[in-house]
Amino acid sequence: MSPTTRRQFFRNGRTAAVGAIAGLGLDLKPVKAAAAKLKIQGAREVPSVCPYCAVGCGQIVSVKDGQIINIEGNPDSPINQGTLCPKGSAAFQLAVNPNRLTKVKYRAPNATEWEEKPLDWAMDRIAKLMKETRDRDFVLQGKGKDREGRIVPKMLNNCPTIASLGGATMDNEWNYVQLKLWRSLGLIWLENQARI
Ligand code: SF4
Repeated sequence: MSPTTRRQFFRNGRTAAVGAIAGLGLDLKPVKAAAAKLKIQGAREVPSVCPYCAVGCGQIVSVKDGQIINIEGNPDSPINQGTLCPKGSAAFQLAVNPNRLTKVKYRAPNATEWEEKPLDWAMDRIAKLMKETRDRDFVLQGKGKDREGRIVPKMLNNCPTIASLGGATMDNEWNYVQLKLWRSLGLIWLENQARI
């Protein structure tokens, strides 16, 4: 038989407590009705890690109908044992927030005014510039030269002219996928506030 996890232990304890109260003859219908309305009822629980800092607290992301509906501390994590600091507790708002920006500000070269552009426009422009830059600057093994034409033996098979700077509000899973993408393109200048 597999060992009981902390999460199962708390669940079993909750069930036992409800059973004990029922044994006292108390009417539990209102309690059951309230439990049925819990917003994580029927949700899929996905273990994750808080992206904010190097402590790496475990989180449980509840997903329903393809949408994140709740994020809370993971009691099974040996690091935080179900607790989260105020930043980690507010992680749900990173993903689900009506105040999230949906457009970007763009200032063309030599322009003085900012223009508002759709996200898709920005994504296409970034992809185009990345392709052009990588095609131009990728350093092949044995042929590596810097911009002054000097041989650069320690910088082989990479693209040294594109860098990535991530923020802690990028979630753990996104950081993982992004790192894989950058490495596959030969990027070496990768930095992020989070240290997971
Ligand atoms: S920001 Fe808070 S919840 Fe997140 S990993 Fe750090 S200490 Fe844990």
